[in-house]
Amino acid sequence: MLKVHSRCDLACDHCYIYEHVDQSWRGRPRYMDLDTASAAAERIADHAAAHRLPAVTVVLHGGEPLLLSPRRMREILHVLRRRIEPVSRLDLRMQSNGVRLSEEYCDLFAEYDVRVGVSLDGDRPANDRHRRFPHGGSSHPQVLRGIGLLRRPAYRRQFAGILCTVDIANDPVAVYEALRAEEPPLLDLLLPHATWAIPPQRPQGQATPYAQWLLAVYDRWTADGRPMPIRLFTSLLSTGAGGHSGNEWVGLDPADLATIETDGTWEQVDSLKITYPGAPATGLSVFTHAVDEVSALPGVARRQTGLDGLAATCRACPVVRQCGGGLFAHRYREGTGFDNPSVYCADLKELIVSMNARTGAASAPTPPEVDREGADLPDGLLDRIGSGHTDEDDLRFLNGSHLAITRALLVRVADPGSAATRAGWEVLTRLDQEAPEAVEETLAHPYVRAWAAEAQPRPDGVDGGTGAYLACVAAAAAVRAGARVELDVPVRAGVIHLPSVGAVVLPISTTGTATLTVTPRDWTVRHGSERARITFPDGPGAGEPHVTGARWQASRRLPFGRSSILFEDLDPYRDCHDWKAAERVHPPQLAAWGEALAGAWKAIEADVPHQASVVGAGLRAVVPLLDDPTGTLRSSTARQAFASIGLARADGPATAVMIVHEFQHSVLGALLDLCDLFDPGHTGRVKVGWRDDPRPIEGVLQGTYAHLAITNIWRQRAGRDGAGSVAYERHRQYRQWTAEAADALRGSGALTPAGERFVGRIAEALTS
Ligand code: SF4
Repeated sequence: MLKVHSRCDLACDHCYIYEHVDQSWRGRPRYMDLDTASAAAERIADHAAAHRLPAVTVVLHGGEPLLLSPRRMREILHVLRRRIEPVSRLDLRMQSNGVRLSEEYCDLFAEYDVRVGVSLDGDRPANDRHRRFPHGGSSHPQVLRGIGLLRRPAYRRQFAGILCTVDIANDPVAVYEALRAEEPPLLDLLLPHATWAIPPQRPQGQATPYAQWLLAVYDRWTADGRPMPIRLFTSLLSTGAGGHSGNEWVGLDPADLATIETDGTWEQVDSLKITYPGAPATGLSVFTHAVDEVSALPGVARRQTGLDGLAATCRACPVVRQCGGGLFAHRYREGTGFDNPSVYCADLKELIVSMNARTGAASAPTPPEVDREGADLPDGLLDRIGSGHTDEDDLRFLNGSHLAITRALLVRVADPGSAATRAGWEVLTRLDQEAPEAVEETLAHPYVRAWAAEAQPRPDGVDGGTGAYLACVAAAAAVRAGARVELDVPVRAGVIHLPSVGAVVLPISTTGTATLTVTPRDWTVRHGSERARITFPDGPGAGEPHVTGARWQASRRLPFGRSSILFEDLDPYRDCHDWKAAERVHPPQLAAWGEALAGAWKAIEADVPHQASVVGAGLRAVVPLLDDPTGTLRSSTARQAFASIGLARADGPATAVMIVHEFQHSVLGALLDLCDLFDPGHTGRVKVGWRDDPRPIEGVLQGTYAHLAITNIWRQRAGRDGAGSVAYERHRQYRQWTAEAADALRGSGALTPAGERFVGRIAEALTS
């Protein structure tokens, strides 16, 4: 959270920054200067690179961030994108009171893709209760005007949601209706900040008024078909199903938020300002301290220990995994500090128990049955995969599971059948009856699942994907099926993507919605006054199409083994790997890629002949990654994108090592979808030979399994090159690392019975 301005143009009386005990804002610069923003960007980028974070969220915050002039705002956005984007996907956000939103700001936010959340407490009487100007006047009309701007099609993507602070004096349903009318993509209902020292207002005789207020909203929201996520509710539903909460308000997710003040000082989470003066202070600064130094501070580290960091009362509480003790700041009491349940304990418990009772078994997501023994897997599959002898039947089984997961994710994207997803869903379900192979082939594309996972109604409200893309998936299936359909599809920076088929590039880089009509031989696009037509005289995929009013970029395949793989440099959801994906590759480089893959295949056949057919049959796609400026090899697997790997270009033998390595990760990822090999609650770390820092169990397991295959490659090469060769030394090194890591895993106490068996097979394979 980046505090870009420390003052505000409103004087809300429930504000935790100006109206609570910590008054540190008085000594801060009014706004963040460019040197400080650059130092902050530098620290964030360094941290993302060191920990290989696929994405980082930066929230511009205040005070009121829109007190920053558009020029200063642009400079800060520019420095953040320029420094962080090359190493990690940057999700830029802003939290604003919305009063000063203008077209100029909205254009700027569209240019830098900043998603803006606006604070609004409900209808005018509700909002006027607290959110007023210093002169006492209402801010409600100005805020509605600002939200109206964000609802315009040109800025709709920039609308992140509405944040509402609950006041039980307001009518809950009236508040909900007023907020819903603004069509936010996400609604946040926050309990007013309070501690045991300054408890929340409770009318006499009412034990749980906040729970009752929230339940009234919950009931109306459910009756309405849950038109947008309400973060508190979706978090509790998710934690009730054994999932993550995605935020610090409820659940046991580790803290992953730090604040940078306008002067560059690091602070802990902002809400601590309500506890005692100086509570969020760290004494550290972006000019002198890295993010890791902040996260090692005892106050931050404690918020990363899950159940262990809670008071004894909470640890014994039957709903602790859903509640998590509430917000850290709300546990504060003089004398015992944070070692208490939340001051909202009674309300939280009542809310959770009542929600659970209402959802019941039918609609509440029930925790999936966890297979810790591998008992539900086909005979011998765990042993074959563990020993590195995955066969083509095993791959078919894993692929079927991947497809089932993708379908389950799609059902949730389509639910509850919003206007944005309805037409796409109808086409897809119709085609599933009429042309099931076309649908299956489309859904098997690794980045359909990557998108569907992002587009879930997530508890943290971050909708990195968009449900409207379902129409693009349906259109791609229709193209494959040779069907005739008409769909409204999203346009992203002037491009309409048809996953694994290609992309229509419109002449102007706009966003919005276009109407795409697909017939077996030609497609037409209508976007505002623009018209484009693409005709395939020989059918899609055969020969060059005739194109007017747009450009057509076909998905391309490159020979690999006995067949070919998709060279994925188009899909908008491919950028989910550790390293940034490269842009569209031009023909000369494409030819060089073809040579690298052909060389890799030769090396795989020579070095790991028993794996060649499986890798050849199983690998579906390669995503080209940006080269590392230092020349270091780069490769990556994304957990949701089964059977696809990201690669930076290298020579054939080096590419072979990367492909085999990443394919192992992909296979193990698919196995972990089905069977727990380790206790997910285990927080211990293990030291391994190939890294300086101790690693979490899943990382060690993944590394060990990938290194088993790499050991085999170097063993084969060492056999050819002889003792004393580079290959000989590498084989010795990898074998030692892998054997030590397998021992460490077995001694960690983290493995399930299935995990013990799996790692046992790795160890046996090493000595075979
Ligand atoms: S309901 Fe109360 S006791 Fe239970 S976890 Fe939440 S705060 Fe702790």
